[in-house]
Amino acid sequence: MRFRSALTSLVLAIILTAAWMAGALSAESLPFHPALLDAARAPRTARIVRQVALTYAPQMSEKDREIDFIQKIALAKRLLGVGRLVGLRHETLNLLAPGQGVSWEDVRRRRWPGGDPVGVTLEVPVWVPARARRLKTYCGFEKKWQAVALGTPRPSGYVWFVGTMREVNDKAHYRPATIQVEVNSKFAPLAGLLMEYIFREGWYDNSRRVPLLSLRMGEDTYAVSAAASGPITVECLTFPDRDGASLAATVAQCTYASLAEIYHGGHAPQSNHRLGLAIDFNDSNYRGVVDGTPNPISPAIRQYNRSAMHKLDARQLPAWVFTAASWMGCRIPQSWTYPGSNTDWEHVDVGTK
Ligand SMILES: [Zn+2]
Repeated sequence: MRFRSALTSLVLAIILTAAWMAGALSAESLPFHPALLDAARAPRTARIVRQVALTYAPQMSEKDREIDFIQKIALAKRLLGVGRLVGLRHETLNLLAPGQGVSWEDVRRRRWPGGDPVGVTLEVPVWVPARARRLKTYCGFEKKWQAVALGTPRPSGYVWFVGTMREVNDKAHYRPATIQVEVNSKFAPLAGLLMEYIFREGWYDNSRRVPLLSLRMGEDTYAVSAAASGPITVECLTFPDRDGASLAATVAQCTYASLAEIYHGGHAPQSNHRLGLAIDFNDSNYRGVVDGTPNPISPAIRQYNRSAMHKLDARQLPAWVFTAASWMGCRIPQSWTYPGSNTDWEHVDVGTK
């Protein structure tokens, strides 16, 4: 009996060691690095994206991860020849004739003097809820998003959809996935780095998982196809007032004609999105609720309480994401006011001045 139990322990020890090694190996071998979809068309950019990939070492502390991120930002900026990020806005505008209207559909087809196209598609690692569903997005130069939703002019990446608040906040069951988004090739290595940093935090620490279900960067007007679904009922948070500090959110059931009503948007001519130099995180439209989350543009004081908002709805970015974006030199929502005393909470960009 004694011998058999020792043997059982030995076998168990071997199995556990093998399982641990498999886990350790997969952590290093999984391709959780940003990459360009059109690498052959933009070889210079694709190389820089690869060169600045973050490190996944065993047991990296939060401090080690910050240092790695900050070093890779410096490396990316050196390889790109970028100083202040707003320089990218001026450089991109310089590709256009003076007084010409600005459209991503035009800008993305142009080339940098080095040869790479301005518009590239970036694929980045993201956390998504277990049952999240992938929806293709389309974009075009249209005045109304409905024209994109009904006409589906040109595919431009995708978003992840999940319909209940329980799933949104079920961090323990998130799974790693990827998302694709169009962006300016001179911004792509930096945007990819920020997304990978957000992903990597969740890799090391479950509590720091932030689901990135929609990323909007370079575009004029976009939408999910209106044919992607019929009428749909989803959960959304709603608050007692439009601009106060109350966190007394309740869950509302909202019905929309199609998923295109939730996933659509358009950017003003002066927006950095038209140059591929801005990022919207988890942008969505839940009409019919009060300051419903995630709410990209809001006058509410509660929105400054980022950790509370993130706890209520994990799609709300916690404060550390904005800190990371500011380390990169991005303009963050806390540093400017969107028209009408609103703050555009899901938006970071290269600035305008
Ligand atoms: Zn934006």
